[in-house]
Amino acid sequence: MSQLNEIKCPHCGHWVVWNCRVDDKCPDCGEYLEEHRFVHAEQKRMADEAKQKDDYFVIKDSDETITQIYKTFLNIFRWGAFYGIPVVFIIVGALVVIYGLVIL
Ligand SMILES: [Zn+2]
Repeated sequence: MSQLNEIKCPHCGHWVVWNCRVDDKCPDCGEYLEEHRFVHAEQKRMADEAKQKDDYFVIKDSDETITQIYKTFLNIFRWGAFYGIPVVFIIVGALVVIYGLVIL
């Protein structure tokens, strides 16, 4: 048994059959029935994609456990290098200043 929901289109006010999908459109005016939900879902999808691209080694469920551990380790190392390099520069800068003060 399939359950049909009816929703009042927020744009044209007609009652239309709604499949509870975020990208359902009104057959009368062609607007999204739940625009805020669609926008939210779209933003979430784009954020997830950006996050996946940010991770150098994307961990897939199809990977073997050892591969997942290996990728996780490399990702941690990569982020460690990303945040560690400025720290090294600050330390070297501080050492140069200290060295200068000791010599003079
Ligand atoms: Zn409509």
